[in-house]
Amino acid sequence: MKTDNTNQKTIDNSNSDIKSAIHTNLDNKDMKSSNNELVFDVRGLKTYFPIYEGTFKKKKVNDVKAVDNVTFTVKRGETIGVVGESGCGKTTLGRSIMRLEEPTGGEVLYNLHGTMTDITKFNKDQLFDFRKEVQMVFQDPYSALNPMRKIYDSFAEPLKAHGVNSKEDLEMIMEDRLRRVNLRPEFIYRYPHEFSGGQRQRLCIARALSVSPEVVILDEPVSALDVSIQAQVINLLQDIQKELDLTYVFIAHDLSVVEYISDRIIVMYLGHILEYADSVELNRKPAHPYTEALLSAVPIPEVGRESKRIVLEGDVPSPIHKPSGCPFHNRCPKYIGEICEQKVPEFKDLGNGHFVACHLYQGK
Ligand code: SF4
Repeated sequence: MKTDNTNQKTIDNSNSDIKSAIHTNLDNKDMKSSNNELVFDVRGLKTYFPIYEGTFKKKKVNDVKAVDNVTFTVKRGETIGVVGESGCGKTTLGRSIMRLEEPTGGEVLYNLHGTMTDITKFNKDQLFDFRKEVQMVFQDPYSALNPMRKIYDSFAEPLKAHGVNSKEDLEMIMEDRLRRVNLRPEFIYRYPHEFSGGQRQRLCIARALSVSPEVVILDEPVSALDVSIQAQVINLLQDIQKELDLTYVFIAHDLSVVEYISDRIIVMYLGHILEYADSVELNRKPAHPYTEALLSAVPIPEVGRESKRIVLEGDVPSPIHKPSGCPFHNRCPKYIGEICEQKVPEFKDLGNGHFVACHLYQGK
C-alpha cells in the first residue's frame, strides 16, 4: 500500500478507528459555534442539458435535468457536504455554482464584498474575479495536472492570470502553498509523474490555494485515493480550513467521509435535494428513507440507530425520464401510496435547520 509523508492523525483504515474518529468529530461539532454569514444563497437552481435529435441534431427532444430546482445556503467558514449516488447531480451542482456549467434557471447569489450578487448574471470580468475567490479541486489528480509541465508551470498559470508575474513572487507563493500541504518546496521543479496519487491531490489543493480563495469546492477529492491516504488528505483539508478560514463545499458519494468532514449535509437524488440538516442531526435522526438507506451502508454500528442494512431495489432512474411525484418513489421502502407518485413532496421543516422532502412528514 502506498503511503505519503504526511501527518496521519485521526482516521485510519480500520472500521473501529473510523468509528471513533467520526464520533469524536460529531461530538466536537455539537459544541461548534455557528457563523450565520452567508457565502452562497442558491435559489431554485436548474441545470439542464438539452438532448437533440434529427439529421443535424437541431431538434431538441428533451432535457437531462441534472440539477432540478435546488435551493440551499452555504455559511462562511463551514463545510457543507453534498452526498448521493453517482448520477445524482452533485458534481453538476458544484460546477454550476462556479458557473463552469451554465445554469438553466434560478439564482446563485454569492457574497461579493458584503453584497449578495447573482453570479448567473456576471460578465466575463466579474466571473474572472469571482473565480479567484472560489476555486475547485477535481476528483482525478492524475488528469488534473498536465504531465508535460513541471509543477511550477501548472501553478504559474493562474497566478500570472491574476497579476503575479515576478519569478521571485511566484516561487514564494508556490513554496508557501506546498509547505501548507506538507510537501517540500523544491517539488515545484518536478513533473507530475514523480508523485503518488495522494501527493498529486495535495498538489492540486495547493494549486487551488495559490490564488488565496475564500471558498473551495472539492469534488470527490479523495475517492480516487487509497483509504489510508484519504485520511491524510481529509485531515490536511481540515487543518488548512482552520489556518486560512476557508469555506468548503465537499462533494462525495461516501456518506461516512462526508459525515466526518461536514458541518451540514445535503442529500441529493436525481437532481433534487431530498434532505438537508446539520451533520450530527442527520447522523442521529435521518428522516428521508433514502438517507436512512445511505446511512445503513456506513460501517458504523450507531448507538440508538438501527444498524440493519437497507438494500434499495433497482437502479437510479434516468434523469431524462424521472418518476412523477416523489423522485424516489419507485425505490422507496416506505412508499405510502398514490400520493408518492402523484405529488412532488414539499420541504418540511423538522426544526433545528433540518428539512426533508417526503410525504411521511407534516413539518412544524
Ligand atoms: Fe417514500 Fe413517499 Fe417519502 Fe417519497 S414521499 S420518500 S416515496 S414515503
